[in-house]
Amino acid sequence: MGEKRFKRIMLKIGGESLLGDREFGIDPKAVLVMAEKIKKVVDKNTEIAIVIGGGNIFRGLSASKNGIDRATADYMGMLATVMNGLALQDALRKVGVQVRTQSALTMPAVSESFIRNKAIRHLEKGRVLILVAGTGMPYVTTDSGAALHALELHCDVLMKATKVDGIYEQDPLKFPDAKRFKTMTFKDAIEKEEVQVMDTGALAMCKENNMPMMVFNLFKEHNLAKAVDGEDIGTYVANDVKTKLV
Ligand code: UDP
Repeated sequence: MGEKRFKRIMLKIGGESLLGDREFGIDPKAVLVMAEKIKKVVDKNTEIAIVIGGGNIFRGLSASKNGIDRATADYMGMLATVMNGLALQDALRKVGVQVRTQSALTMPAVSESFIRNKAIRHLEKGRVLILVAGTGMPYVTTDSGAALHALELHCDVLMKATKVDGIYEQDPLKFPDAKRFKTMTFKDAIEKEEVQVMDTGALAMCKENNMPMMVFNLFKEHNLAKAVDGEDIGTYVANDVKTKLV
């Protein structure tokens, strides 16, 4: 890593990023802050596709534990991502960014449907592309949606935005002295049970298809811009690196 500027990125934003100080739902102020961060990298001519999660509203697995049929609950989770996508689209428009939303579930009144060729065209024209409803299929999460879309849209990197600074040897919120990994192989990211980076399915897809990943804290000032510039922040996960602590 280092010195490499990414031209087309896939940014995976978890639903919790839209919570602000709330415990549930969408805080429009937090969404606006996010939109401003995204605008800064759009202004540097970066092509950005965003897959947004829905965990701030609804997670299929948790709901299925409370008695809703798993597939039905997952479709409800996908609908939650549509709400988040519309909120982010609105905020991006407010800060003057050209944006289109495409959904893996057909919903013509609120969003374009995902059509790969059109999606690529939007990116080439410099429009931010928000992809909602994940893969459109139950039993997976938006991490898998982000990995699949990153591959088919030929993104240079999958950026996973989190609340911590990258992948740590132990949970840094519980163990403040825990060290961060500067780089990590996909093999270790999958096999090390103590690190929870992303769904194993999504990691395996990136590993098999050589899609590098960056895990970093989106909430730190300028971090997204630094990540796009290939600066040494967070953790870089790939096949052609060694697993190394900072
Ligand atoms: N989901 C799904 N298929 C997908 C993407 C999402 O079934 O391809 C459902 C699943 O129930 C998931 C919910 O949508 O829990 C919200 O997505 P996710 O948990 O990935 O949100 P995040 O944790 O990123 O906020």
